[in-house]
Amino acid sequence: MKKKILIVGGGTAGTMTANNLAKKLMPEIDRGDVEITLISNSKYHYYRPGAMYVAFHKSEGHEFVREQRSLLMPEIEFIVDAAVEINTNRNFVKGQSGKRYEYDFMVLATGCEAAPERIPGLKEGGDWFYTYEGARKLAEKFQTIKNGRVLITVNFPKTPNIPHQCGIAPVETTIMLHDYLTEKGVRENVEIVYTYPTEAQSVHNGLFLQEPTSKVLPAIFDGMGIKHKTGFTLNKVDPNKKVAYSEEGEEMEFDILMSTPPFIASKVIRESGLSKALDGEGWLPTDRKTLKVKGLGNVYTLGDTVDLPVSKAGGTIHNQTDVVADNIASELRYGYPTESYDGLVIAIAQMGLSCGMPLWYDYEEDVQPTPCSKLGSFVRKGFNKGIYWAAARGMI
Ligand SMILES: Cc1cc2nc3c(=O)[nH]c(=O)nc-3n(C[C@H](O)[C@H](O)[C@H](O)COP(=O)(O)OP(=O)(O)OC[C@H]3O[C@@H](n4cnc5c(N)ncnc54)[C@H](O)[C@@H]3O)c2cc1C
Repeated sequence: MKKKILIVGGGTAGTMTANNLAKKLMPEIDRGDVEITLISNSKYHYYRPGAMYVAFHKSEGHEFVREQRSLLMPEIEFIVDAAVEINTNRNFVKGQSGKRYEYDFMVLATGCEAAPERIPGLKEGGDWFYTYEGARKLAEKFQTIKNGRVLITVNFPKTPNIPHQCGIAPVETTIMLHDYLTEKGVRENVEIVYTYPTEAQSVHNGLFLQEPTSKVLPAIFDGMGIKHKTGFTLNKVDPNKKVAYSEEGEEMEFDILMSTPPFIASKVIRESGLSKALDGEGWLPTDRKTLKVKGLGNVYTLGDTVDLPVSKAGGTIHNQTDVVADNIASELRYGYPTESYDGLVIAIAQMGLSCGMPLWYDYEEDVQPTPCSKLGSFVRKGFNKGIYWAAARGMI
């Protein structure tokens, strides 16, 4: 009987995995033994890192959006429908349309979402660049700022040892802000204050979530006149007074609050009953090697939805997608999974408007910071301008 593979979520993880599966299983698809269906709640696919460039007036954002159908191999059935119920006992997902999507194997890839409402006053008083809408609001504020203070805050999930989306993004955008204000000729009149919470995964009282980078950041920030402060875990904002309060009992005034807000898994995952993450955050319990949802033999997950300690980043998904696709293909062919994820993450961080720093780490080894370079920036620009779409199509 024909085997059905269902992928839920048409972002980086779902798209790469659908295309990789279609390539690996082409003989079975040609014979009519396997069918691959991807459902997503949007007709469009967003390259999420593009929002950072919108915040600093380096892009309008249009080039970072594609029609989802155009990114998928023709053999993949694509349906626009929001998953509203996941039933892993009876192997189906229900869509908002009322349709039931049955599966033999499923991949859950619905990402995560910013949840500023989890900090009192943050939604009203703060800004963030993690969505295109948020980035556009920030861009308007950055356009008019001539003096005052931009305060940077970072919140981590309450569930221990889980990162927020794209761990390096607060550092990238702090340095991009420095370059942007310098370009505008107002940097001397605008104070930039980068703060970091007391607990950041395994790092206590640092400036980043990995020790080696945390240690080099003070010198980098000092060289740019960026003030920095450890032990500031944002827990309240007064939008009228423009004051941010920390769990540690401090308060800081701001003119613009550029925050990394709390993140949570998507609604359908939070309501699925599959997660036991703290505070209803919804991270899926994930086997760190096979990338199966723990306790479920035929459900895989990857990307921003997982409860693994690795970065919630495209550079992570690029290394997870082959593991998931290979494992499903070998389960179909031999009856058991054959691949194992080692926690590998490879990316190029945008350290300012024209400097790129390669990042390379895994479960065992933290990233070793290296000087950023124009060559790094060239590669990053290439990724932004086109390599990403090739990666999403499973071509690299
Ligand atoms: C500002 C910013 C900068 C970043 N910078 C970098 C970087 O420099 N390097 C890097 O590697 N990564 C970076 N990232 C992170 C990277 O973009 C994410 O890790 C990646 O997009 C996550 O992919 P995903 O498929 O897990 O989630 P997403 O790409 O968010 O995709 C989730 C998909 O699921 C769909 N969906 C949600 N709910 C449902 C539902 N109920 N039913 C059906 N479909 C649903 C959504 O529409 C979406 O298509 C950055 C992210 C941001 C926001």
